[in-house]
Amino acid sequence: VFQLSVPLNFLGSVYRELRQSLLDMETLFNLQKVNVAVKDKKDAKPLLLTGGEIRFENVTFGYRNDRPIVKNLSLTIPAGKKVAIVGPSGCGKSTILRLLFRYYDVQEGRILIDGQDIRDVSLDSLRKAIGVVPQDTPLFNNTVEHNIRYGNMEASHEEVVEAAKRAHVHESIQQFPDGYGTMVGERGMMISGGEKQRLAVSRIILKDPPLLFFDEATSALDTYTEQALMSHINSILKEKRRTSVFIAHRLRTVYDSDLIIVLKAGHVAESGTHAQLIDRAGLYAELWSAQETSFGGDPEEPNYSGEG
Ligand code: ATP
Repeated sequence: VFQLSVPLNFLGSVYRELRQSLLDMETLFNLQKVNVAVKDKKDAKPLLLTGGEIRFENVTFGYRNDRPIVKNLSLTIPAGKKVAIVGPSGCGKSTILRLLFRYYDVQEGRILIDGQDIRDVSLDSLRKAIGVVPQDTPLFNNTVEHNIRYGNMEASHEEVVEAAKRAHVHESIQQFPDGYGTMVGERGMMISGGEKQRLAVSRIILKDPPLLFFDEATSALDTYTEQALMSHINSILKEKRRTSVFIAHRLRTVYDSDLIIVLKAGHVAESGTHAQLIDRAGLYAELWSAQETSFGGDPEEPNYSGEG
């Protein structure tokens, strides 16, 4: 597979200007992995979303043909459910997300969204249907307001503020020198990683895509802020019945998912709810107890044992 790596620093300011005007968040999210081999089929149709079910059927994929990262992987992310994909570092979690976005095509098997092979639908409609809150959110050299509104250019000021409130970033924004008019990005005010993540969440709340992915999205937040934000995200997802997938290291952020898929070396090691997986006493239970031990019984922390 031919792969184009864009030398970011090389193109300098021209590139930055271009980036601001041309590229959308999802492209930015994985700019260094632009794959020119992936193209629309001649007769590609727009993706038709019904419930938002995602299926991987016997998918095999490697960045190099001789080194599969994902091996004969089958999994179903049910429509309207909150699903977590967890597993040891390097097991292929982010790769699954890249395949779903069709940054790469699978070598074997297929990926279906509501029954449609993603190779048969237009890339544009596919990527529009999926919203990602990445680990590191790209910000535009523009105001805070613009950066949130990017999720939906038609949104009013009130809608932008409402999204910021729901993402727990409104209060921080009010402390900025020019509030929603404060310039951020490379040439603007420096904001914290946690604030950036919450701006990304506001953006996705405004965009309101049918399929949502959170790729370590709350990892820069302290545990307290993370819990508060997660509970808001959860209530929004429930209300709207969106299919959502959380890729997470910290199991505490996803223990309450409808389904937890545990990956190991590119295949599904086990899956189920938190309680089922704890009962199973397998890899998940092992990861859970390792993380609980390292958290070390903080009395301020709520207790998540058992049923959830
Ligand atoms: P982590 O939890 O550490 O983020 P992950 O489960 O998301 O890891 P992936 O990022 O999917 O794992 O990576 C899976 C494997 O694929 C790793 O061995 C990684 O080194 C390799 N890999 C990832 N991206 C590329 C790439 N662009 N080219 C070649 N190999 C890659």
